[in-house]
Amino acid sequence: MGRPLRRSHGSGDEEDQVTGGRGRTRLEGSVCRGCATVAFPPAQTCRRCGGRETTVTELGTQGTLWAHTVQRFPPKSPPYVPPADGFRPFAVGYVELPEGIKIEAILDCDDVDELVAGAPMSLVATEPVPRFAPVRTEEER
Ligand SMILES: [Zn+2]
Repeated sequence: MGRPLRRSHGSGDEEDQVTGGRGRTRLEGSVCRGCATVAFPPAQTCRRCGGRETTVTELGTQGTLWAHTVQRFPPKSPPYVPPADGFRPFAVGYVELPEGIKIEAILDCDDVDELVAGAPMSLVATEPVPRFAPVRTEEER
């Protein structure tokens, strides 16, 4: 119980922690042992039933866009750290995961117009905050 899922894949080098882009990016949440409510970020106390028995679980990295907006001014800093070359507007929104929860994330895209509710999104990074990008279709532009 509470043991991390182990997948033998030959090399044994499956312990990719969070990577900035290369390799597999993992998103960890928690699941309540009492009522199976999933939370992100991981919570020690279930916000639905108040149970204190939660286990860390790996969340899906593919989701769908639920809602978004464009951040056109720099957020309060700290915690926001502006990029070295200055602030540029970026998209933020909620991505609904297969587990049924919606998580707030920065949305990577070239054109905000490609962000539509229900669009498939893929996790690209988790640090310092979750970051999703639209799933590219076959025809790249
Ligand atoms: Zn619960």
